[in-house]
Amino acid sequence: MTTVTGASLTTAIELLDTAASAGATVVLSGHVQPDADALGSTLALAEGLRRRGARVVATFPAPFVLPESLSWLPGAGALVPSDQIPTAPEVFVSLDASSTGRLGDLAGLLHSAGTSLVVDHHASNPGFGTVRLVDPGAAATVVLVAELLDGLGVAWDDDLATCLYAGLAADTGSFRFGNTAPGTHELAARLLGTGIDHATISQRLFDTAPFGRLPLLSLVAGRACLETEVGAGLVWTWATVAEARDHGLAGDQLEALVDVIRATREADVACVLKGQDDGSWVVSLRSRGATDVSHVAIELGGGGHRQAAGYTSRLDLPGTIAALRGMLATGSSN
Ligand code: 5GP
Ligand code: MN
Repeated sequence: MTTVTGASLTTAIELLDTAASAGATVVLSGHVQPDADALGSTLALAEGLRRRGARVVATFPAPFVLPESLSWLPGAGALVPSDQIPTAPEVFVSLDASSTGRLGDLAGLLHSAGTSLVVDHHASNPGFGTVRLVDPGAAATVVLVAELLDGLGVAWDDDLATCLYAGLAADTGSFRFGNTAPGTHELAARLLGTGIDHATISQRLFDTAPFGRLPLLSLVAGRACLETEVGAGLVWTWATVAEARDHGLAGDQLEALVDVIRATREADVACVLKGQDDGSWVVSLRSRGATDVSHVAIELGGGGHRQAAGYTSRLDLPGTIAALRGMLATGSSN
C-alpha cells in the first residue's frame, strides 16, 4: 500500500476509473451522524461508480439511523448498515470525514481495504488514507464529488444532481456562508440546469420539522446564557436526546437548534451542547467571524471549519462549558 500525499484530482479519478472498469468492490462512507454533505457525497459517488461498473456498497458509521430530513435522498434506501459491509474491499472511499475518529466503526477499512481514498474539505483534516483529495477551499465535499463524476464521465441526471445540490445548499447555509464563491454559484447553476426541484429539496432540508420542535425550541432558547466577557462573547445552551424524545422527536432534531442560537449579535461564538444517552455531550460551535472555532474544537478533541466546528466531551455539563470558556478566554482562538 503506497501513500500518495496531496494526491491530485487526476490520481483520484484514475483510481476510481480503474476500480470501476475492473468491476471492483468499492465501499463508500461519510462521517458518523451524517449530514446532507456526507450523505449527498456518498450517494452521488456511489451511483456514479455503479453506473461505471463498480460493485458499490454505500454505508455510514453506526448507529444506522438516518435523519428524517435526509431519508428521501435518491439512493438512501439502498444504504447498508456498517456491520453488513465487506470488510476488505478493493477500495474504500471516505467522504466529508475530517478525522479517522469521524469514521467510527468503519475506521479500520482505511487499512483493511486495498486502497483508501479520502475526499474531504475540512481545514482540520490531519491527512489520512492512501490517496487524499482534501481541499479546504471547496465549499462542500459534494464539490469534489462533482469533479470526480465529471472525470469519470458520468452524466449528472436528476438523482445525482439532487444529492449534490443537497450537500452544497447545506454546507453553504443556502449560499449565505463565507465559503460561497463564484464557482459555488456556477456549480449550483449547472445543477439547477438539470431540472431538479431545488425549492422542494431546500424545504425538506431546512424548513420541515414535527410540531414538537417548537416547544423544544422554546425550552432550549429559554435556557440560553449570554457571557459577553468570555472571548469575543459566548452564547450557549443545551438539550438532551432524552428531551427530544419527550417531545416526540428523534435526536437529530437537536442539530438545527444552533442555527437559532448563532444569530445572537452580542456573542461571536454560539454553542449548543447535545446530551447523549451515554452521558457524553456532542458540542456544536459556530463563529460569527472573529473566532476560529475549528482551533477550539481541535484543542478539545474534535475538528471542523473556521466558523463551524464540533467535538464530543465526556465531562458533565458544567465541566464541558468550563473547558470551553477556558479555551475561548485564552484568546488563542483568534
Ligand atoms: P456540527 O456542529 O454541524 O455537527 O459540525 C460542524 C462542523 O464540525 C462539521 O463540518 C463537522 O464535520 C465538524 N465536526 C463536528 N463534530 C466533530 C468532531 O467530533 N470531530 C471532528 N473532527 N469534526 C467535527
Ligand atoms: Mn461538509
